[in-house]
Amino acid sequence: MSEIETETLFTRIRDREIPADFVYEDDEIMAFRDVNPQAPLHVLVVPKEPIPTVNDLEPRHAELIGRMFLVARDIAREEGVADEGYRLAMNTNAAGGQAVYHIHLHLMGGRQMSWPPG
Ligand code: AMP
Repeated sequence: MSEIETETLFTRIRDREIPADFVYEDDEIMAFRDVNPQAPLHVLVVPKEPIPTVNDLEPRHAELIGRMFLVARDIAREEGVADEGYRLAMNTNAAGGQAVYHIHLHLMGGRQMSWPPG
């Protein structure tokens, strides 16, 4: 990677310094189960590059972000929630509820989601 690497909770998971229950991994993207699940299925789809927030995305990330959605879609299928439905969410900064400053797509399913979220 050409960008400056910053250590985050998720780079530590990426580097196997912290254990996680991985469900997917390739050169650019990883996915593992959320340690504090908010639904029967709660997986985080995370780029290996530690992009802090959606605000930091650059045009070169467009394909990566698209691939994150395809990975999430495939996991939803594999986990059996694709037809009944699921939620994909990416929180941004404090008011958006972001706690880990390394972007991640929440995949949640297995229960009825409400709208609007809290
Ligand atoms: P966010 O609030 O959008 O930044 O989401 C961060 C998510 O990371 C939360 O849902 C946490 O439960 C989850 N999380 C925190 N630590 C871990 C961990 N060690 N392994 C897996 N998920 C984690």
